[in-house]
Amino acid sequence: MSDIAPPTSGTSEHMPRSVTVLGSTGSVGTQTLDLLSAEPGRFRVKALVAGRNVALLAQQAIAFGAEMAVVADPALYNDLRNALAGTNIAVAAGPDAVVEAAAMEADWTMAAITGAAGLASTLAAIGRGAYVALANKEALVCAGEVMLRAVRDAGATLLPVDSEHNAIFQSLADGNRRSIEKIILTASGGPFRTASFDEMKRATPEVALKHPVWSMGAKISIDSATMMNKGLELIEAARLFDLDEARIGVLIHPQSVIHGMVCYTDGSVLAQLGSPDMRIPIAHTLAWPARMATPSPRLDLAAVARLDFAEPDPIQFPALRLARYALRAGGGTPTILNAANEIAVEAFLKNRIGFLDIAGTVERVLDAMGTPSAETLDDVIALDAAARRAAGNVVAKIASTQAA
Ligand code: NDP
Repeated sequence: MSDIAPPTSGTSEHMPRSVTVLGSTGSVGTQTLDLLSAEPGRFRVKALVAGRNVALLAQQAIAFGAEMAVVADPALYNDLRNALAGTNIAVAAGPDAVVEAAAMEADWTMAAITGAAGLASTLAAIGRGAYVALANKEALVCAGEVMLRAVRDAGATLLPVDSEHNAIFQSLADGNRRSIEKIILTASGGPFRTASFDEMKRATPEVALKHPVWSMGAKISIDSATMMNKGLELIEAARLFDLDEARIGVLIHPQSVIHGMVCYTDGSVLAQLGSPDMRIPIAHTLAWPARMATPSPRLDLAAVARLDFAEPDPIQFPALRLARYALRAGGGTPTILNAANEIAVEAFLKNRIGFLDIAGTVERVLDAMGTPSAETLDDVIALDAAARRAAGNVVAKIASTQAA
C-alpha cells in the first residue's frame, strides 16, 4: 500500500488544536464549524476562507475568533474589511491570499473548496506537512500524482472526509492492508436512481439538485445525480488507498447507512455504518486519531429495517464508465475528466445544456483529447485549462443547437 494512505499513529497533538477551514461558508465548511462550536476548548480557529459569501464569512470569523478571514474574490476586499472593522481579525482577498492562508501554520486544515479551484490552497496546506482533511476530491482527481508526491515530500497526512473514503479508512484500522481483496464504495443512487431516460433528459437543475439523502453544495449534488460523484470518488479511492481500478467496486445502496466496505482475502468484510450525516466523517478527521462526540442522529437499524443493494446501471449512468476509463488510462486523463465535468455541470446549472449532456460533454472532450501525461503541476494546470476550453466549445455547440 502507499505510504499516502493515512497512518494510524504518530501525532503531535496540541491542545487546543489550531484549525483552518478552506471553504468555510459551504456545506462541509459550515458543518465543520458546527462541530468546532460544540467543543470550544478543544479547537482554535486560525483562518477561514470563502469564495464570495462575505456576510457569512465575517459572521463566522467573529463567532469563532479567527485570526484571519480571506475572501477569494478580490473585488470583495472592502466589503470584508468593513464587515470586520473594529475586530483584530486580519483580512485579505484574492486567490494568492487564499493560498497564503492555507500556508499559515495550523495543526489541521479542512480542504472544502469546490472543484479544481481548491487545488493550489490544498497543495499549500499539504506543503506544511500538516493534517489535511480532504473533502475537495476534485483536487486529488485533477492532480493525483502531483498531489501524492507533495504529501510524501512534506510528510503530510491526508484524512479522507468523503463519507465513503472515511468509511474505508475506518475499516482499514487493523492495519492489515496487504490482505485487502477489494473495497466497495456505496452510492445512494441520487435523485434519478429509478428515473426513466426521458425523465433524465428533461430534468431541470431544480429537480437534479434535490438529493434524496444528503444536503450538499450545488456542484456535488449534480455530480451525485449523474453519478460522476461516484466516478470522482473511484479515482479518489484509487489514489488514497493505492488500489487499481478493478479492485474498487461501487454498489447502489439507497438507505446510505453503509458508507464503504473493505473485503479481505479471508472472506471477511469490514464496513462502517452511520446515519447519513457529514458531521460524522468530518468529526472523525477533526479529532483523529481520537474521537469526539457529535450531535448527529444515532443509527437506528430497527427503524431502517432493511438495507438494499444493487449494481449501478452503466447505461443509465455513463459517467461511472467514463471515470473508470480515465482511471485506467491514468496520466492526465482524470484531469481532463474533472475539468470537462466542472464546465458541463456549470453549464447545466445555468440551463445552457440538458442533464444528459453533462456526461455527453465529458465523453466528447475525453475522445478529443486522448490520454496525455501530466507529470508536473504545470502540466496539470495547462491540461486543466485546455480541457476547460474544449468543454466550453462542446457546451457552446450543444447550447446553439438547442437554441436553434
Ligand atoms: P459548497 O458549494 O457548499 O461550498 C464550497 C465552498 O468553497 C464555499 O465556502 C465557497 O465560498 C468556497 N469557494 C468556492 N470557490 C472558491 C474559490 N475559488 N476560492 C475559495 N473558496 C471558494 O460545496 P460543498 O461544501 O458541498 O463541497 C465542498 C467540497 O467537498 C467539494 O469538493 C465536494 O465534492 C466535497 N464534498 C462535499 C460533501 C457534502 O456533503 N457537501 C460530501 C463529500 C465531499 P462561497 O460560498 O463564499 O462562494
